[in-house]
Amino acid sequence: MTSLNITLLAGGVGGAKAAEGLAKSQYASSTKIIGNIADDDEFHGLWVSPDIDTLIYSLGDQIDRQQGWGRKNETHQVLTELKALGQDTWMTLGDLDLATHIFRTNLKHQGVSASDITERLAKRHGVSLPILLPTDDVVQTRVKTPQGWLSFQEFFVREHCQADVLDIEYQGIANAKPTPEALEQIANSDLIIIAPSNPIVSIGAILAVPEIQQAVEKSGAYIIAISPLIGGKTVKGPADKMLESAGKSIDSKGIYDCYNTFLQAMVIDDVDQQEATWLQGQGLDVLVTPTLMKTPEDKTALLTKVVEFALSCKKQRAA
Ligand code: GDP
Ligand code: CA
Repeated sequence: MTSLNITLLAGGVGGAKAAEGLAKSQYASSTKIIGNIADDDEFHGLWVSPDIDTLIYSLGDQIDRQQGWGRKNETHQVLTELKALGQDTWMTLGDLDLATHIFRTNLKHQGVSASDITERLAKRHGVSLPILLPTDDVVQTRVKTPQGWLSFQEFFVREHCQADVLDIEYQGIANAKPTPEALEQIANSDLIIIAPSNPIVSIGAILAVPEIQQAVEKSGAYIIAISPLIGGKTVKGPADKMLESAGKSIDSKGIYDCYNTFLQAMVIDDVDQQEATWLQGQGLDVLVTPTLMKTPEDKTALLTKVVEFALSCKKQRAA
């Protein structure tokens, strides 16, 4: 038990909820997170890494709990002034949050890797779980809509995910190098948990980094995904639209299709119980349980249940 090694693949808000659940569980010291950097973009000359910051602020208890992103007790004086200067301010960056982006950008200019910057920010916020990056190179999700290609944040924040999604690409992915830390962590994992994150732009962007998906497929770990859909709907965000544009159904089957080359188990909500039989028919172990995480207790209870279920299924399969 002491040598148990757990990896959480995580996006932003759904990823951070799962990360917090693990951080407060008895499995905290066994867990490392691999986060998503493909939502990163530049604003006002500053490099912003929204999913990584959501993980750090959540785990450091500095997150705005109402929004699920950004800092608590935040003010927006800098943004107000930028607006007065005629700048685009649709990307809401608060004053405290801007310090993170100034720090990140400054170190980036000094040649410090994204992984090291993440570690320093995590340390400042007292984050106990290591946050690894799939790559230190720049990869940026772009979304094709009827009005043309948009950056991910233009689609997500400026356009409020309203536009139809025709296609998605990860710019820079072909030349991205996986980090040795992520590859080693995946290879040494007993258990890989896929957070209830967007399977296309959060988890999909992690897996698309060359060698990462192959490492997951070869790891020998037991791999379990928590569905981000409840009753065929996303709790928040455009996962439904994106599944549809990728030609996948907006249900457990669609989520399974994203992960079918390596998945052993899936966690679905009580309201989706009728989908369990089909998943079991694909050879999956299925945990049916409430998956909406609102309180700290919800998060810890769900993630503890997920780890216990996965370990017992893994043992049964090995028997
Ligand atoms: P983003 O990067 O902030 O968009 O967040 P993620 O990619 O990590 O997660 C987005 C997904 O999380 C959405 O599809 C939501 O449906 C899902 N999600 C958010 N909260 C919950 C929750 O409490 N339970 C479940 N099952 N899914 C959730
Ligand atoms: Ca995100």
